[in-house]
Amino acid sequence: MDIKKENPVYSRTDASKVVLPEDEWKQILSPEVYDVARQKGTERPWTSKFETSKEVGTFYCAVCGNALFKSDSKFESGCGWPSFYEPISKSSIIYTPDNMHGMNRTEVQCGRCKSHLGHVFEDGPPPTGLRYCINGVVLDFDKGAEAEKRYDEENSKR
Ligand SMILES: [Zn+2]
Repeated sequence: MDIKKENPVYSRTDASKVVLPEDEWKQILSPEVYDVARQKGTERPWTSKFETSKEVGTFYCAVCGNALFKSDSKFESGCGWPSFYEPISKSSIIYTPDNMHGMNRTEVQCGRCKSHLGHVFEDGPPPTGLRYCINGVVLDFDKGAEAEKRYDEENSKR
């Protein structure tokens, strides 16, 4: 994703809250990201490359760069979206009751920019019993360490 270059609020180090008017978000974000993050849309199931990914690293908010989940809390839920059992820290996520579509659900938003990420359900695995069902389009993934990456590349050449 190359939205970062044109996105002035994207930062992996700045933890200050991001508040922008909707028309500015529309200019900064790609249509796909805008639809999910700001319009609470849902990507089609089974379309995210992160759904079955087993790579080791950290998942960030694709809108603002806030760290959200570690790969070791990711599990295969079979629901069609990337799923995690716990966020990287308590403050990385905001929880909001969502009664839309006649369902009692809990919406999950980014703790820094309040973008819509997905929902959390109480049918996840131990140790939390939670399932954070997240739209892959609003996730940005980074491998844990450069050294690991090089090691993998060297191995694949043999
Ligand atoms: Zn964010």
